[in-house]
Amino acid sequence: MKNLVIALAAFSLLAACKNENEKKDNSAVQQSTNEQVVNVYTHRHYEPDQEIFNKFEEKTGIKVKVVNASADELIQKMKMEGKQSPADVLITVDAGRLSRAKELGLLQSIDSEILENTVPLHLQDVDNQWFGLTKRARIIAYAKDRVKPEELSTYEDLVNKKWKGKILVRSSSNIYNQSLMASIIANDGEEAAKKWAEGMVANMARSPKGSDRDQVKAVVAGEGDLAIVNSYYIGKMLNSPDPEEVKAANQIGLFFPNQNDRGTHINVSGAGVAKYAPNKENAILFIEYLISEDAQNIFTNANYEYPVLESVAPVQDIKNWGDFKEDNLGLNKLGEHNKKAVLIFDEAGWK
Ligand code: FE
Repeated sequence: MKNLVIALAAFSLLAACKNENEKKDNSAVQQSTNEQVVNVYTHRHYEPDQEIFNKFEEKTGIKVKVVNASADELIQKMKMEGKQSPADVLITVDAGRLSRAKELGLLQSIDSEILENTVPLHLQDVDNQWFGLTKRARIIAYAKDRVKPEELSTYEDLVNKKWKGKILVRSSSNIYNQSLMASIIANDGEEAAKKWAEGMVANMARSPKGSDRDQVKAVVAGEGDLAIVNSYYIGKMLNSPDPEEVKAANQIGLFFPNQNDRGTHINVSGAGVAKYAPNKENAILFIEYLISEDAQNIFTNANYEYPVLESVAPVQDIKNWGDFKEDNLGLNKLGEHNKKAVLIFDEAGWK
């Protein structure tokens, strides 16, 4: 027993020495290089982002340290870490989640003339806690051989009886759908939104499952005629290494709803500075870089998103879809109506 105690004591002494040495080593590195960093918590699951981060490093000497996870996980992590959180920047792919982070007090208002003046007003938070980086439209993909675009008009018209058993859309637990619903609440009111959800459920080709891409594939497989999807997925499928995806994307047409009234629902991927950012200045520089021409070109070229920077043209594949009118609803509304949207989905039985 005594030996065990001695052994344990010796072991913990060794461990302590080791920790002490590591600490010394780390501080030596920090002192010698005076390394500048920005810690980025990101939900963007797209490879080209790394290219943008590398360019930022080259340009500024500020090292980009990335933590990649789902937005909910990142938000949870920031909550748990509290004041100790190393996060400087939070990036999500939906304004609804940025609003959620803001509501939880995880972001801070920042002063950046570049961001305030460059990002269109409706694509930035009213308190400057987050800014849109790229735009995506939630469009209708239709079977070219079975649907004429003239038959389509608005999101609201999707509840028309002529589409009974024809509509494919993913689950309501997905934030893209919650934000679309929030925009319908904001534009049409709660009662109309409820009726819309019920009408949609009645017209579904199947119980919601799978991703946006899966809805497109199901249209091509003949399970339904219309799919509600984010625009960039079509661009990605057209350029996919998987020939089946290319084939599928070529068999569908793209329709931008609500062109004769408010415009097509737009969402953003966006970024905000963390409340307890240890490197706040670097965080602002980093987000400013994400809306530079360099970064915006990479975003649109590689991920088929619409740039928020007006001077950058979208990549040819998405130019081919033509110009369209965007819903200019302030994206803060997507956060404001999120809870209501979830409730309406539940009541309507939209799984
Ligand atoms: Fe996505």
